[in-house]
Amino acid sequence: DGGTGRTAEPVDTHCPYCALQCGMRVRASGGGGVPAEVLERPAFPVNKGALCGKGRTAAELLAPAARLTTPLVRGADGALRPADWPEALDRVADGLRRTAAAHGADAVGVFGGGGLTNEKAYALGKFARVVLRTSQIDYNGRFCMSSAAAAHQRAFGLDRGLPFPLADVARTGCVVLVGSNLADTMPPALRYLTELRENGGRLIVVDPRRTRTAEQADLHLQPRPGTDLALALGLLHLVVAEGRVDEGFVAARTTGWERTLPGVMAHWPELVERITGVPVPQLREAVAMFCDAPESMVLTARGPEQQAKGTDTVSAWINLCLATGRSGRLLSGYGCLTGQGNGQGGREHGQKADQLPGYRKLDDPAARAHVAAVWGVDPDDLPGPGRSAYELLDALGRDVRALLLMGSNPVVSAPRAAHVAERIEALDFLAVCDVVLSETAALADVVLPVTQWAEETGTTTNLEGRVILRRRAVDPPPGVRSDLEVLAGLARRLGRPEGFPADPEEVFAELRRASAGGPADYAGISYARIAAEDGVFWPCPEPGSPGTPRLFLDRYATPDGRARFTPVQHRPSAEEPSAEYPYYLTTGRVLAQYQSGAQTRRVRELNAAEPGPFVQLHPRLAARLGVAEGEPLAVTSRRGRVVAPARLSAAIRQDTVFMPFHWPGEGRANTLTNPALDPVSRMPEFKVCAVRLERAATP
Ligand code: SF4
Repeated sequence: DGGTGRTAEPVDTHCPYCALQCGMRVRASGGGGVPAEVLERPAFPVNKGALCGKGRTAAELLAPAARLTTPLVRGADGALRPADWPEALDRVADGLRRTAAAHGADAVGVFGGGGLTNEKAYALGKFARVVLRTSQIDYNGRFCMSSAAAAHQRAFGLDRGLPFPLADVARTGCVVLVGSNLADTMPPALRYLTELRENGGRLIVVDPRRTRTAEQADLHLQPRPGTDLALALGLLHLVVAEGRVDEGFVAARTTGWERTLPGVMAHWPELVERITGVPVPQLREAVAMFCDAPESMVLTARGPEQQAKGTDTVSAWINLCLATGRSGRLLSGYGCLTGQGNGQGGREHGQKADQLPGYRKLDDPAARAHVAAVWGVDPDDLPGPGRSAYELLDALGRDVRALLLMGSNPVVSAPRAAHVAERIEALDFLAVCDVVLSETAALADVVLPVTQWAEETGTTTNLEGRVILRRRAVDPPPGVRSDLEVLAGLARRLGRPEGFPADPEEVFAELRRASAGGPADYAGISYARIAAEDGVFWPCPEPGSPGTPRLFLDRYATPDGRARFTPVQHRPSAEEPSAEYPYYLTTGRVLAQYQSGAQTRRVRELNAAEPGPFVQLHPRLAARLGVAEGEPLAVTSRRGRVVAPARLSAAIRQDTVFMPFHWPGEGRANTLTNPALDPVSRMPEFKVCAVRLERAATP
């Protein structure tokens, strides 16, 4: 890739933001304080040159004015002050070492991110388990796709977001899109839905809001928040009642249908209408569209997944695919639209509390032996599974007393965020690696300024399981180092001079060995192949293997090769509306901002388009509350109170309000959200909680 820094020639690379990982070209240019420009890359097959506003303006993130360029350490006066790298790294090593010595290895925690490259995720997991020897590592991807991942594992024995290329979506007959607002979250992907309809296919969107994506649909089902599971059961009930079960497929390629059927039949359509608010005729229309098409797909995103029953909810949608034979064959199946840039790869390489590289299970003796051999350690010295992301954050300042945080901003993005901020402030020691002084970094004892996307080389794995290469296109500003260099420096100070190379290709070579033979097998993938082939789909066990764009066509990854039905039942959300908190709150993203906003809030065009938080509510609800467009509305849940301007829209249910979660401060949506956890995936219930609404005093 060159990797040599500033060049006048554009370099092929990928967007720093979402899981679509759009191909783009970046040319070092200078001018206006921004050292590069983003150009289209029409040859990359996923986005074919299209970029949303976030990708198009991403070069602004590279401007030195927008970011940290020197380490910061907290002085005796309590303020952060500039420091040189040796001092900053010494402080971090000292803070981690002292805590472990005083309270044990598990008193040191590590928190990673779904935007880290595969190499960084791998190195961070290895650092935690080999250098710190702590079990306490997890990452913000737990908040993103963990329910879908768990349901995938349960049904198919393997989790890859989409088990087919995104392009297949345009060629199927019917897509049910559950809880995804693609038009705002990954706009270039909307083309596949447009092509689907141009090809005569049908689109069903399930969402409590009539989003810009739902406006494209042939049928929009608008359930109450937290009732997607009942909705899927109701559809499957009708499939059975109308004799549309694919008995041959169920008999030949699945197990568990008999055990699943009674729960399905208990959810008769009128009951499902009462639970979900979706009228029975719409349920029937959806079943007809789904089953009349020769092939069909269900795609879920955070809507059904970020619930305390998210895993069961996804299982219910998978059950629908299996019962109708819409799985394990070309142009049919279930898939999850992963959210974060490397949400897929980030969970495959060892920064998740229960996993080792290659998607191996941390409690599997054979997996431990394989990875320990690659790492040159005794398998018995590898810690066991640790706490999940929210549980880890909740333990800060108590059992976990020091934290190394990389690529995440939980003060804005975690549920019950005010509590999480308190826990972070209760730490004995916090070190944060980040590009900018995020709200979380501002609380740190040491902040380490690191390189970002176009300043470094490394792989990510997009939502299709396609491993791609981000290439360095510009020199980083003086004073910053890569996360890999940081880990190498810390490992050296903590007595591990070997095993933590700073060169990403060297890390990737070791990752390939560690993943070899595992479910997510990267052994046959190299930087050169990725460059030549526009990405390689895992599993790819040999250099001569073509990779695997489509999974499960012949067999599933279960011991007997069959997909597994899971019996599931509807249950209420952890919080339902009550007299005191009579409305639902649901949260999500807007077009011009991304995740905690740490990056996008610093881009002028994006910030101008969407400068702050708001509360979307129906005009009739607004009238009842006596609040007009733009007036401040107080939203209170059992966890706190926020105030943000009202944004009136008939696109949302009258019993529900929506808030985007990109901002800190008094409009921080995650002050309100409920950390009730899914029992399987440990996913918090971001998507539904109960709130009270009041017109607030005008400031
Ligand atoms: Fe970047 Fe996602 Fe926008 Fe593509 S859709 S340009 S990957 S933010």
